[in-house]
Amino acid sequence: MFYINVQTKFIFVTGGVMSGLGKGVTTSSIAKLLQLSDHKVSCVKIDPYLNYDAGTMNPVAHGEVFVTDDGGECDMDIGNYERFLNQNILKSHNITTAQVYSSVIEAERRGEYLGACVQIIPHVTDEIKNRIRNIARDEELDFLIVECGGTVGDIESLPFLEALRQMKVEEGNQVVFVHVTLAPSLDVVGEQKTKPTQHSAQELRRIGIQPDFLAVRCTLPLEEKTKQKIAMFTNVTPKDVLSCHDAKSIFEVPQMIYEQGFMDSLFTKFGIVGMVNASANWDKWNKITEKMNQSDENHVKIAMVGKYVTLTDSYVSVNHALKHAGAEIGKDVKIDWIDSESIEDYKILSNYDGVLVPGGFGTRGSEGIIETANYAREKNIPYLGICFGFQLAAIAFGRNVLKLEDANSTEIKNDAKNPIVDLLPEQKDVLDMGGSLRLGANDVLIKENTNAEKIYHSSKISKRHRHRYEINKQYIAEFEKNGLIFSADSDSGKRMEILEIPSHKFYLGVQYHPEFNSRPGYPEESFLSFVKAASQK
Ligand code: GLN
Repeated sequence: MFYINVQTKFIFVTGGVMSGLGKGVTTSSIAKLLQLSDHKVSCVKIDPYLNYDAGTMNPVAHGEVFVTDDGGECDMDIGNYERFLNQNILKSHNITTAQVYSSVIEAERRGEYLGACVQIIPHVTDEIKNRIRNIARDEELDFLIVECGGTVGDIESLPFLEALRQMKVEEGNQVVFVHVTLAPSLDVVGEQKTKPTQHSAQELRRIGIQPDFLAVRCTLPLEEKTKQKIAMFTNVTPKDVLSCHDAKSIFEVPQMIYEQGFMDSLFTKFGIVGMVNASANWDKWNKITEKMNQSDENHVKIAMVGKYVTLTDSYVSVNHALKHAGAEIGKDVKIDWIDSESIEDYKILSNYDGVLVPGGFGTRGSEGIIETANYAREKNIPYLGICFGFQLAAIAFGRNVLKLEDANSTEIKNDAKNPIVDLLPEQKDVLDMGGSLRLGANDVLIKENTNAEKIYHSSKISKRHRHRYEINKQYIAEFEKNGLIFSADSDSGKRMEILEIPSHKFYLGVQYHPEFNSRPGYPEESFLSFVKAASQK
């Protein structure tokens, strides 16, 4: 049975108690369940901070900057949505305070509110609601799941929660609220405490929002009596108090909440009769999650060498992409992080089946990466260099094979004698740091009879970019004479996109970010080839 969409339904996910409870996973899981039931869904992430976007934030503090096809530098949750839904998401789906206020202030300057005193309510809240509704309308969605970042009680998220509250009033039963909270146990067998959830729901009610569901994080499944108690204090029926206990992987969460009757209850609240039983979709998803959950003694060991190694979230998409590739060939991928600034003996890299250098910026740690790229080349260790890892691999080759004195990137050394990597010409007059890199998806053309062609089985691919520097074309002929080939380019041959060393077991550098295109069950091709090569002893 198919439900015919007449109007988008909204699910608003808010967070309580503390950060890091997995609002993103709850949001993605709800979206996945609806998608598996044959509905057209998407997700929005609200970030109440004052940055315009995530582009200028430090990945070690805030996690990776996720780049969308249309060039958005987004919060990493957008990446989780894309991976769960296997669907591209536009930058308009990451709404920040700065974007909302900029629009309101610009409109005020244009005279659009002439005569009015411009205020948070209604002008800012209207702008928020318009942004959400525009996405729903433009994309003709059945469901839009909106995750509001931060924790209830934060000052900065108040205008957003107020806008969501108003939408409930305006749209009635087209809106459902899910509040994510925590039921801690002080020891493994201890009682599950309900007070933090009680207080958090109370705080939400104080600003006029009554949650329809509570998604309660806990270590062990929420006991019936705990659900009853939470229900009593929060006006949420016990069956709508969902246990979100620890799972082996995030991919188990959709099933976990489904089995608690979430979908039936959700559809009842929306007044939807009959549920699509899309078993074919479920089977496909289950096959993917089974593959992702397998563990194998015989894992592939990858060294990730870079600067931002203290927070694994700094490269969350790279981690996922490696796992997707491993799952495809039935291998677990074990990733060790190595700080490029503190490697004393490069021999440690010989303990690994492959070396990956992800994207990065700036001088610190760059010499260590250049040495790493050189060591992997000399010792025939499979190497995948992404963006910075591509640029520095070229520099390593320039220094050690072409013997070019003082070969470097002008990002690292402004007056390098041999600027193998240099600023994009159109970047020369750019002064702003925010949103000014070469961003988003571009076509990449692959040359015939190259490894790149074998890897991608295609002569044209579309990949996402985020960089300011590129290979200096002056050096290409010399590289190619000496065994390093630039096997793909873009913008009518203006910029180099892939490098490879055909005589090596696997040596690939890519100017783009392949990690943003990798999805569970659909590993990105360069990652797959890299992990395959690494798994061959
Ligand atoms: N810092 C390099 C550049 O701006 C590489 C960027 C990256 O790795 N994302 O070109």
